[in-house]
Amino acid sequence: LGPGTALLRAKEQHFGAHNYAPLPVVFHRGNGVWLWDVEGRRYLDMMSAYSAVSFGHAHPRLLRALNDQAQRLALTSRAYSNDRLPLLLERLCALFGFERALPVNTGLEAVETALKAARKWAYKVKGVAADRAEIIACQGNFHGRSTAIVGMSSEAQYRDGFGPFPPGFKLIPYGDADALEAAITPDTAAFLVEAVQGEGGIIVPPDGYLARCAEICRRRDVLLIVDEVQTGLGRTGRLLACEHEGVHPDGLILGKALGGGLLPVSAFLADARVMDVFHPGDHGSTFGGNPLGAAVALEVLDLLEETRPWENAARLGEHLMRRLADGAPSCVTAVRGRGLLVGIELDPRILDAATGAELLLARGIATKDTHHTVLRFAPPLVIDDSVLDAGIDVILDTLATASR
Ligand code: PMP
Repeated sequence: LGPGTALLRAKEQHFGAHNYAPLPVVFHRGNGVWLWDVEGRRYLDMMSAYSAVSFGHAHPRLLRALNDQAQRLALTSRAYSNDRLPLLLERLCALFGFERALPVNTGLEAVETALKAARKWAYKVKGVAADRAEIIACQGNFHGRSTAIVGMSSEAQYRDGFGPFPPGFKLIPYGDADALEAAITPDTAAFLVEAVQGEGGIIVPPDGYLARCAEICRRRDVLLIVDEVQTGLGRTGRLLACEHEGVHPDGLILGKALGGGLLPVSAFLADARVMDVFHPGDHGSTFGGNPLGAAVALEVLDLLEETRPWENAARLGEHLMRRLADGAPSCVTAVRGRGLLVGIELDPRILDAATGAELLLARGIATKDTHHTVLRFAPPLVIDDSVLDAGIDVILDTLATASR
């Protein structure tokens, strides 16, 4: 019984999600694109904690920002202002072109913030009757796991047994702008959409989709809110995935990588005409905008601007997809993605995705099955060519062996 197995058993006894079986590994340390388990084995991180660890593990500048701020001041709550928050707000607004930013913690919290703002905007500004505002979202969406948010999921797995859910959500097919046009009613407050569906299986919408949605939303007086929790901050080969289509949404949701892989930092960004529907006391969070998170997020924004990691993501993402497509053995039925958010679709009769992830783990590649039949490859954006190529060699060899 190795220390890893013993720790997995100990976790099973007391963990609130004890019957959830993640991959059979216990990580102990991370540096750059590498992870080490408790037995000292090294793995290439091809998951980046669901795209949150964009600058790699233990980035020295992010650690320094965290440590310096932790020693000075970590938390004040929103009862007071702190000296980091205004800097973060200013930077977020300047970088992404909005008048207001509201930092919270996790992705789901930023989505909830956006939904509340949209509904109140519909009521106060658009003139929709109280408690009638409707949100349109997409089939296959993933925006988090609060009861309101799983209530708008199309996935039985996320919903079953957790109802009743708040009403006022309508689902349309992802990638179909005509469906959006048809679904809008006078009560529609917002269309909430992922720029690329991540948890839904790395689904890239058709070219022109977001731009058409933006045009429809503008014409029909509906807010376009883009959830870039996973796709934002360089992951897809641009600073924001919206930029691929020249779209500037009415509301932008950021999370994951904004906290540098060190702590949860998320934000909802919008202009005053939307955000100012919040009155004091309408919305809040003990930890939202805390100086520790703000200091790390500021360093993340500095790193983004200085190192432009989306350029690496664009170049290596193309390379990764080309090599996976060229070398794909029979178990792979599709390769898709944008930048370093890549998925391969597996033929479940040859290899199911969960088994694929376990086989890769045994060969030192850490990734995860997504949406039943998809394996995700989303390494830190700072990965270099030779490390990625060596990883692709192992991935292709593992898949080829499994296809025999
Ligand atoms: N939105 C998107 C697009 C996501 O991918 C995720 C997480 N996978 C979330 C929201 C929720 O983020 P969190 O887990 O931080 O609540």
